[in-house]
Amino acid sequence: MRDGLIPPNPGIHLLPVLGRHVTILGSTGSIGTSTLEVIRFAREHYGPNAFPLQALTAQRNVELLAAQAREMHPAVVVIGDAAMKPALAAALAGTDVEVLAGPDALIEAAQRPAEMVVSAIVGAAGLAPTLEAAKRGAIVALANKECVVAAGEVFRRAAADSRGVLIPVDSEHSAAFQLLDFAQTQAIEKVTLTASGGPFRTWSLERMAAVTPEQAVRHPNWSMGAKISVDSATLMNKGLELIEAHVLFGMAPDKLDVIVHAQSVVHCLVSYADGSVLAHLSAPDMKTPISLALGWPHRIASPARVLNLAELGHMTFESPDYERFPCLRLARTCLQLGGTAPTILNAANEIAVDSFLKRRIGFLGIAKIVEQTLNTFERINNGCTPTNLDDVLELDAAARARASEFTGQAAGRAA
Ligand code: NDP
Repeated sequence: MRDGLIPPNPGIHLLPVLGRHVTILGSTGSIGTSTLEVIRFAREHYGPNAFPLQALTAQRNVELLAAQAREMHPAVVVIGDAAMKPALAAALAGTDVEVLAGPDALIEAAQRPAEMVVSAIVGAAGLAPTLEAAKRGAIVALANKECVVAAGEVFRRAAADSRGVLIPVDSEHSAAFQLLDFAQTQAIEKVTLTASGGPFRTWSLERMAAVTPEQAVRHPNWSMGAKISVDSATLMNKGLELIEAHVLFGMAPDKLDVIVHAQSVVHCLVSYADGSVLAHLSAPDMKTPISLALGWPHRIASPARVLNLAELGHMTFESPDYERFPCLRLARTCLQLGGTAPTILNAANEIAVDSFLKRRIGFLGIAKIVEQTLNTFERINNGCTPTNLDDVLELDAAARARASEFTGQAAGRAA
């Protein structure tokens, strides 16, 4: 390379990024542990001071949280279940790590001055702390899609008012974030999210009726927490992602589409007015989008797997089957309806998935519970979009109560 083209210090532009303090909400989960892998790698690669940690949080996993704190030295750790605080304090005796507990402490963790907050709690439990981070203008690396599905408008306003940034961690949205030309949105014809199709992509409805939780959480391409694994198996995950894309990128519902791509190598396709279709490819490894979010607006070295197309050999694409995967149809309807529908959809789905994992209802019961719950809320379409957290939480609680009634009835019938 010619002399003048070699930058004097290839890493110098990364210094402000590597100096960011990071809080991980949900550090013991699949996304949380992958984020720590990326940070561990960055410390080996760029030096031990990369990404100093402000706070790590978990719900009940004291052992892993304590081990993470001893290795990675956050200023504070929070355990959501307050009953676990003594065990956590004992496990961290002799360290200078502060120990807090309870739901309010999760919010406090998000309020502490970390420039970057990784939102990796599963479900609506992550809503309040993630919103705190958005309100104070933090860069929020957003894995928790349930937050934006349940409270899209609340998040949009919080980030706009604080001039904060929401960087998607979901692989499809991370891909879209890189592919979308925000300077000429009028030229964007369509955003297509890919779906692996999950473990039951080719199964008949009859066969799916007998699916067990163990089968549903065994995803062919991704290693993830139990809830999102079940969502991937029902394709509700892709439906939630359509709503997430609508909230994050302001895309009209009819410009959002889904295509099934079993290999999970292409994550998103953006079609432009001139006929160009831009695609984002990477190995199915969440450490790639996590690295992108942590390093944004630059790119950092990552321990993510490298894509080998010759080894992959071929890629396939097919339309989703809305008959065999009714959760995708329900989510699409809620996307079109807007208003209160996405909040109800999300709450009902969380209850239904939990009931399935506890073997109270069957796999096909998940869509039925969600549909029954949506049907009992009259005038969903006329329901105003919730614009503050209290309204979201009230609606979320009401939808959970209805969905719980239906799961109770379904479980009673099955007994
Ligand atoms: P996991 O179930 O693996 O981890 C969830 C994390 O949240 C754990 O740290 C858990 O703590 C904590 N947690 C659970 N319940 C609560 C609660 N009530 N209050 C506070 N903390 C709680 O989930 P994933 O990492 O798979 O997913 C996290 C989020 O990221 C989800 O919203 C998911 O949809 C999204 N996502 C995940 C992807 C993946 O590949 N895993 C891909 C794209 C998005 P503890 O360990 O103590 O239970």
